[in-house]
Amino acid sequence: MQVGGQTVLPELPIVNLAEARFECTFGRGCEGICCREGRPPVYPEEVETIDTNLDRFLPRLRAEAKAVAKRDGFLVPHRRRIGQRVMRVVRGWCIFFNQGCVLHQVGADEGDPYRYKPSLCALFPIQQDHEDRWYIRQKGFKGEAWDLPCLDPSQTKIPAHESLPAEIALAKRFDDEQKAEATAHGKAGT
Ligand code: SF4
Repeated sequence: MQVGGQTVLPELPIVNLAEARFECTFGRGCEGICCREGRPPVYPEEVETIDTNLDRFLPRLRAEAKAVAKRDGFLVPHRRRIGQRVMRVVRGWCIFFNQGCVLHQVGADEGDPYRYKPSLCALFPIQQDHEDRWYIRQKGFKGEAWDLPCLDPSQTKIPAHESLPAEIALAKRFDDEQKAEATAHGKAGT
């Protein structure tokens, strides 16, 4: 949100926000390597959204990815991460990757880049730990295992709170939804 020309971040506790740094260099040296061999988990409602709108994405896919998506679907059949189905990889890249994320591109053309994207991709590099606390993925923090240059805070001077306002706003939206759901369950159980 912009107030008086300044970006105001939503109130969301992020444990390492004060010191985290992040800069996405997609199209400026990075070719989108977070989508290479990524296989993000996809929640059932996200699967349904992508499936329902598949015809909008197919024309933009790489030829080989389009053939696989039509023949075998966009999910790996027997593999799960955090209990969820995962995206297929075709020739080393996410099935929906074609010079950027096709799900992102179609959503952006319609006014909301996150409309079709799996939440884990949309939030990257923000995620929750096992106690549901939000944090920014950074090399050297919480045993980060992914060796991506953009997760190395020594590679940029840009604070994450400046480079990730949209992702922080999205995390806040998810956080509000989680809390509302927990409250509803609590009420249903009383
Ligand atoms: S769904 Fe999009 S952002 Fe996520 S890994 Fe695939 S191409 Fe990348």
